[in-house]
Amino acid sequence: MSGIVKKVAGPLVVAENMRDANMFDVVRVGEEHLIGEIIEMHGDKASIQVYEETSGLGPGSEVISTNAPLSVELGPGLIGSIYDGIERPLDDIMKLSGNNLQRGVEVPSLKRDLKWKFNAVANVGEYVSAGDIIGTVQETPIVNHKIMIPNGIKGKIKSITSGEYNVTDTVATVETEKGLENITLMQKWPVRVGRPYVKKLSPDMPLVTGQRVIDTMFPIAKGGVAAVPGPFGSGKTVVQHQLAKWAAADIVVYIGCGERGNEMTDVLNEFPELIDPKTGHSLMERTVLIANTSDMPVAARESSIYTGITIAEYFRDMGYSVALMGDSTSRWAEALREMSGRLEEMPGEEGYPAYLGSRLAQFYERAGKVITNGKDEREGALSVIGAVSPPGGDISEPVSQATLRIVKVFWGLDSSLAYKRHFPAVNWLNSYSLYVDTMADWYNTTVSSDWMNCRGRLMTLLQEEAELEEIVKLVGIDALSAPDRIKLEAARSIREDFLHQDAFHEIDTYTPLEKQHKMMLLILAYFDLCISALEKGADVNVLSTMPIRERIGRFKYTTMDKVQSEYDNIMMELEKSIDNAIKLSKE
Ligand code: ADP
Repeated sequence: MSGIVKKVAGPLVVAENMRDANMFDVVRVGEEHLIGEIIEMHGDKASIQVYEETSGLGPGSEVISTNAPLSVELGPGLIGSIYDGIERPLDDIMKLSGNNLQRGVEVPSLKRDLKWKFNAVANVGEYVSAGDIIGTVQETPIVNHKIMIPNGIKGKIKSITSGEYNVTDTVATVETEKGLENITLMQKWPVRVGRPYVKKLSPDMPLVTGQRVIDTMFPIAKGGVAAVPGPFGSGKTVVQHQLAKWAAADIVVYIGCGERGNEMTDVLNEFPELIDPKTGHSLMERTVLIANTSDMPVAARESSIYTGITIAEYFRDMGYSVALMGDSTSRWAEALREMSGRLEEMPGEEGYPAYLGSRLAQFYERAGKVITNGKDEREGALSVIGAVSPPGGDISEPVSQATLRIVKVFWGLDSSLAYKRHFPAVNWLNSYSLYVDTMADWYNTTVSSDWMNCRGRLMTLLQEEAELEEIVKLVGIDALSAPDRIKLEAARSIREDFLHQDAFHEIDTYTPLEKQHKMMLLILAYFDLCISALEKGADVNVLSTMPIRERIGRFKYTTMDKVQSEYDNIMMELEKSIDNAIKLSKE
């Protein structure tokens, strides 16, 4: 039985005679078979969110329910793909319909003609259930795709053969209570439902990014959630790109959610050209891109968020560390607002629906470090980093506020820092990471036992600087005591030599933790030696202009092979300079 369109309002279509359909069923609307999803049911009336342009559609058109929720195909071929919000590969759509997206195009998400080399690792007679790995496919030189038993299947392997298959071929059969099940390389999953796991673990190790302000000051855990709000031009995109490039993740899922059209084009052009610094291969060999260019209807932003996180969960289930970036969640929230308005729901703050907060929470809650399904108790992690673009950079608006209530890490980008070209423009005074305490042990045992102590001292100096700056503004620098002036000098060094990091400098772009630690030690040594030199009569002006400070500043450009020797040299020189300064001051 098919429904009949009653009303069309932009992406919202109301249809009658839909009694047999269910909430969240995918439907095909009109002659062009536009793809939509039921988002509200009242009796036999369904409100449908259509993921394609609805112009030309009118009352009386036919609506057919597929009786299945919006689902994605999961299997070899995901990596390196660029999808739209409902997992249609952009290259295939373009082949079919040229540059102007033709509506209602149906293309399989995973290419059907590609053959993959399946390497069976399970044996006939073995008992398997959901999540068990029965074989692998080397999907790209760096991603080994694990083929897992889909949910709901449990039984004894009757047949399994290594060989060349496409995603729909049967690679194994399992004898279950309900009969023989065919296992293919591909499985399907409804996007609005989180994929199951055995249990969530508390995130206790960092997702190392090589970005000093992140790793040292405001670290994100593997399986953690972070938000990067910032006004236009404050460096959100560069931060996201740096993370996509450098974060210690096996898989990266990047959702470009309706940022200004040309920005998404940038991502589409740039990403395939980025080289994964660790492997020397294209970054796309561990990346899945979901793109919503601005010419796509706003409703598709919502599906792109769910499509992206479902793909990310699937790789987490293989036991990988996955990082998902959403750029920007504000655009998704705006789409929710538009739909809510059209549904004539009671608006909440600034017209956003009252459920904005719970929708955002449901999304971020799908992050985490987990023990996956499957008998080998794999550990997988899904870290989520959402960019937020508050209008005018004012984070008191509803999307930023709702996001801040959920995420555990906040990297607040600041337009005044960006204006001074202090990049990454993360404001060290209002940013935070709630993972710092739970990860303290990890840092102290893995990098150095005094890591947390150094970090704490750096933070304190920065906070003291802010207070002293206030005093200086009121009464001038001369009113400060000599130790306070040294504090200001040390804080300046923290900002300029440590926090400032050039994403485009060959060496500075990535700093291993070991080097971050040595950088902290150098700055703190400068501070401590100066303070004790003051007690021995050294002049504060001499101490703050010692040439050795230049070398501390340039230490960030030292390659890893020279880090230890350069560190030792600077320490030696520093002590000499301090002795010299004491002598000079006494003359
Ligand atoms: P947004 O996405 O917030 O609008 P972008 O990420 O495009 O801002 O950053 C704007 C500009 O700031 C970049 O083109 C770049 O020149 C500069 N920038 C941002 N972050 C860095 C960085 N870490 N190192 C060097 N330059 C940076």
